[in-house]
Amino acid sequence: MKHTMPVLAYAQDALEPHISRETIEYHYGKHLQTYVNNLNNLIVGTPFENASLEEMICKAEGGIFNNAAQTWNHTFYFSTFSPAPQAEPTGKLREAIDRKFGSFDAFKAEFEKKATGLFGSGWTWLVKDAAGNLDIVNESNAGNPLRNGLVPLMVMDVWEHAYYIDYRNRRADSIKATWNVIDWKKVEERF
Ligand code: MN
Repeated sequence: MKHTMPVLAYAQDALEPHISRETIEYHYGKHLQTYVNNLNNLIVGTPFENASLEEMICKAEGGIFNNAAQTWNHTFYFSTFSPAPQAEPTGKLREAIDRKFGSFDAFKAEFEKKATGLFGSGWTWLVKDAAGNLDIVNESNAGNPLRNGLVPLMVMDVWEHAYYIDYRNRRADSIKATWNVIDWKKVEERF
């Protein structure tokens, strides 16, 4: 089975000024493409040749895990963005966020603290468990919460390649800017 690049639902410059065209060209066009290419090369002749990304995230190790998870994580990440996003969660998700974190602003502050504090490369996730409880979890490198039985709802990529073109070393500024393009309608659909 050949894994393919996700199609972006927006133009490469549509997320400006928060995420530039150049960042999308490199992050989507080169980094993600490399993970997809690596994965397609690595699975040939292995038990994962016809496996889904989710199956590899839960069962594979080493290079196959890393490239399958990075393909899934980036596909999920880029599909959460919109140039005209629903700016805040509503309905049941909003209720769950208010219950767990106190308010949407308190949730954002907690998420930013966690994402800024992740040492090295990784991903900060909003997840729900089997009982529907929300949490914010950090995963290093290619880590994905599916491996721990959690359901990913939203994510920010805090690898330097995600923000260095636009924000240089200022990870916290890039996290704050990313809120402007996260479409909470999509997050609600996953909840
Ligand atoms: Mn990335």
